[in-house]
Amino acid sequence: MQLKQAIFRAARSAGMFSILRDSPWRRRRLLIVCYHGVSMDDEHEWSPSLYVTQDRLRARLQALRDGGYTILPLADATERLYAGTLPPRSVALTFDDGAVDFERRALPVLREFNAPATLYLTTYYCLHRLPVFDTVLSYVLWKGRDSGADLASIVGSAQPMPVSPDSERNATRQRLREHAAALGLSAGEKDVLVARVAGRLGVNYDAIKARGTLQIMAPDTVRGLPGDLVDVQLHTHRHRTPIDHDQFVREIRDNDAVIRELRIGAPAPTHFCYPSGDYHGEFFDWLHECQVQYATTCVPDLVSRDAYPLLLPRLVDTMEQSALTFEAWASGFAALLPKRRAFRLDPERLTVGEAVRG
Ligand SMILES: [Zn+2]
Repeated sequence: MQLKQAIFRAARSAGMFSILRDSPWRRRRLLIVCYHGVSMDDEHEWSPSLYVTQDRLRARLQALRDGGYTILPLADATERLYAGTLPPRSVALTFDDGAVDFERRALPVLREFNAPATLYLTTYYCLHRLPVFDTVLSYVLWKGRDSGADLASIVGSAQPMPVSPDSERNATRQRLREHAAALGLSAGEKDVLVARVAGRLGVNYDAIKARGTLQIMAPDTVRGLPGDLVDVQLHTHRHRTPIDHDQFVREIRDNDAVIRELRIGAPAPTHFCYPSGDYHGEFFDWLHECQVQYATTCVPDLVSRDAYPLLLPRLVDTMEQSALTFEAWASGFAALLPKRRAFRLDPERLTVGEAVRG
């Protein structure tokens, strides 16, 4: 990490960022940036990899403006990437899930910079107005981490279930999730479980719910998102990708149906983002069957024309990422450093997909 920062610093001082930024090589490439949430309270302290502060988001957009980058809507950017007509220094912004903070915290900043963004909306919790169980459970346990409480009696466990240190809290969270799954709890019942956990930890769950933390936007809020700035795309209905054809296709079709109903007048969704960044070779044919043309991952890289359209790399921006690292990615320099390849694919399938794309 420190070595990388030193390399970035040296490269920037040597003028390499600006040379690359203006190079024909960079011009043939697109940087897609991913955000999840923008904190309404202390969410970035709980999960600095999922949440950034509004100030941080603003600083990034300012850096892109200062660097002369062109922020394009993702749909335009992908078309122009493959057509070979990208403008210089192209960047596209994406936000995953569609939580309440998108409208309250991200949108005002996007408006301030007139920066378009794609929102990958998961729709089940848009229709069922409750905090997302897995994540809010984690957040509530974190908030109660200094309570010294033990949650064993909630699930009737003979073993202790403490909420600190971190490793124990993770184990406790896992056991609560398993408990909910084993009982087949509904979304409403899972919410009652979180409320009981919060009560035991002395965490004010009513306040968390009132603020809208970890809730997906309500249907009317999604309807009201400005079409000139926000393009709503697919992220599955229940934020999951079953490795089963019928269940997978249903996730996309249910998601698609809700989005079409909420975004009347917008083109039919053809972009998709793999929930939690998980993809599998089987998905490609199924996505094609659902008219999905482009899909983004969480594998950091610039996108070139060689990229398979259903495996577009994307830089996840976090609180842990320095301004220097962000600039290194925007210029393209960071993409030149050796990196771990996370694409694990059946090469035959990829060949088939590429041939089909022609
Ligand atoms: Zn997601």
